[in-house]
Amino acid sequence: MGPESEVLVRFRDVEKTYDGRVNVVDRLDLEIRRGEFLTLLGPSGSGKTTILLMLAGFEAVTAGDITLNDRSLRNVPPFRRNMGIVFQNYALFPHKSVFQNVAFPLVQRRLSKHAVSEKVEAALRMVDLTGLGERRPHQLSGGQQQRVALARALVFEPEIVLMDEPLGALDKKLREQMQIEIKHLHEQLGMTVAYVTHDQGEALTMSDRVAIMNDGLIQQVGSPHEVYEKPANAFVANFIGENNAFEGRIEGSDGRNCVVRLASGDIIRARSAAERANGEAALLSLRPERLVIGSAAADMANRFGAKVVEVIYFGAHNRVRLAMAGRDDIIALAPAGTAGEALAPGAAVAVGWAPEHCRVLAPE
Ligand code: ADP
Ligand code: MG
Repeated sequence: MGPESEVLVRFRDVEKTYDGRVNVVDRLDLEIRRGEFLTLLGPSGSGKTTILLMLAGFEAVTAGDITLNDRSLRNVPPFRRNMGIVFQNYALFPHKSVFQNVAFPLVQRRLSKHAVSEKVEAALRMVDLTGLGERRPHQLSGGQQQRVALARALVFEPEIVLMDEPLGALDKKLREQMQIEIKHLHEQLGMTVAYVTHDQGEALTMSDRVAIMNDGLIQQVGSPHEVYEKPANAFVANFIGENNAFEGRIEGSDGRNCVVRLASGDIIRARSAAERANGEAALLSLRPERLVIGSAAADMANRFGAKVVEVIYFGAHNRVRLAMAGRDDIIALAPAGTAGEALAPGAAVAVGWAPEHCRVLAPE
């Protein structure tokens, strides 16, 4: 196995309760590999911050164990864990200069004055803040402050950097720019990152792997491509990207496809990761960009007549709401120019999709 697959952090059957009754993190088994960018993604309250706090040592685990390089962290205090931290509520020191803020972890570690100054300058250069060392945090923009926080987390070359919604306070444009910058830093430095966000776009853009959380439980761990194209269950399918869900029953199979009958009587052919018994209830997931509208739908295994309900212009594509198979809420993304003028409300269109783009999901 290459260095990429070496395990740096391992959560083993970790549980956390704050009130002694409800586990806000439950049955957590998760590995963070050395050098990877792993993101915990989930709605508010799903336990993401709690997991990072336990890893950083600011919250005790209720049960189970966390190891770093195969050694238990149980009795290791936060300042001995050698982890870089960028948390929203872990603000810069307002009365210290940028230089002093970044120098802080080095001074704590009693490095020589010379070494401190060299490492701080290098860290400021890395985040593109050269020359701003004398400023105070309030003399910087939000994005620059966030870069100082990043420099402070990286300056002592920690084994892992923990980031909890670090870009949450920034506006959309700056946030997207910082996503790319952090990703580039990760690639350049080969550091390990454990990142927390509730923003699925952010998670998909930045991560090597994403762990999707709901209600304290991991729903799926995989590459951005895997969790988007092969969601393990309905929660993942709905939380990541946009999803058309169909409910039906398994009626049989035709070789590689499951044949599913909807309540409307229509048949859909879809793929399933696991065997399904005839008669079993089935939930199908179909991404809007996989629906094809117009003559290209003619020879597809799933083919329907549909009526256009609504067309919303999005520049590079149109978002089309369709009525079909007894529903009126099926969403298709059509590249601008598709079927030209025909895509107007009320128009009758053919729609289709390939069975391999439609998935039978495991029940939640
Ligand atoms: P997330 O970061 O995904 O929003 P959190 O880890 O902050 O989730 O919270 C998970 C659950 O634990 C929530 O229900 C939250 O209300 C609860 N919780 C978080 N911190 C505390 C605390 N210090 N005391 C009691 N309950 C808490
Ligand atoms: Mg949180």
